[in-house]
Amino acid sequence: MNFDVVFLGTGAAVPVPSRGTTSQFLDIHGHTYLIDAGEGVQLALRKNKCKFQKLKGVFISHMHGDHVLGLPGLLSTMSLLGRKEPLTIYGPADLKVWMEQTWRAIQAHLSFELTWLSWDPKAPKEMWVEERYRLISFPVKHRIPTCGLKVEEKSLPWGLNGVKAGVAKLPYHVRQALKRGEEVKWEDKVLHPDDWCTPPRKARSYVFSSDTRPCQSLQEMAAGADVLYHDATFANLDEDRAKSTYHSTAKQAARLAHQAGVGHLVLGHISMRYKDVGLLVEEAKAFHPKVTVAEDDMRMTIEGGGLGNRV
Ligand SMILES: [Zn+2]
Repeated sequence: MNFDVVFLGTGAAVPVPSRGTTSQFLDIHGHTYLIDAGEGVQLALRKNKCKFQKLKGVFISHMHGDHVLGLPGLLSTMSLLGRKEPLTIYGPADLKVWMEQTWRAIQAHLSFELTWLSWDPKAPKEMWVEERYRLISFPVKHRIPTCGLKVEEKSLPWGLNGVKAGVAKLPYHVRQALKRGEEVKWEDKVLHPDDWCTPPRKARSYVFSSDTRPCQSLQEMAAGADVLYHDATFANLDEDRAKSTYHSTAKQAARLAHQAGVGHLVLGHISMRYKDVGLLVEEAKAFHPKVTVAEDDMRMTIEGGGLGNRV
């Protein structure tokens, strides 16, 4: 079951040739989502061969231009290419108003239905809940209301010993119960999943911080995550600037990742002022052993145990 993230844009505020503004393409168990839609998102999706016509949902973390200005163009293109499937967009309450004004101003009509839902700026909220995974928004600490996103697997199936089940002639409903990890009664006996199956592998999780100061809410949601993508706009020498703009330094990101027991820290939302990101890595590695600076077009498979593999 795949669980991949493509980092489409990893820069802060202003797009430059080496780094676009924030967008990520998430593929979990064959369902795809877009996390933020910075300017240039359409071309980045095409460049990375991400099939955006099949997106199941879009998550927008906040109303700053570097996270949202690519959305009208993307939706417009989906319509021009004849999309019919409905699309759900989760974001701040202002998003729907802004988009509707935009449609009116450019006299656009969409070929598909949009459902607008708001995240909660004060508490975690389940957004997409599927049988084997869920996406949860949670508030972070930025200049305007902003939410991060946690993507986590759940209810993974136990691996049934098919040969043993076949010899015992277990019926379908009994097999299904065992694969859910449940005890089940059959022919006056109680069957235990441990005797018939191998336990499921560890559920994996990915956390996207969006733009934020280090905060309690993020630390709680990142607890034990396999991969955390954290705002690392600044190096420690610009700590004052990080504070006044409600962003984080690489050092702060690493300290939070260490405290939260994160497996792999990915630094993102990098300011264009740092031509050499070695400084950011050095600061972060003093607090966390596994650090990667995100690059545009980098694809990562989320692996259990925090071993995210860069491809
Ligand atoms: Zn930003």
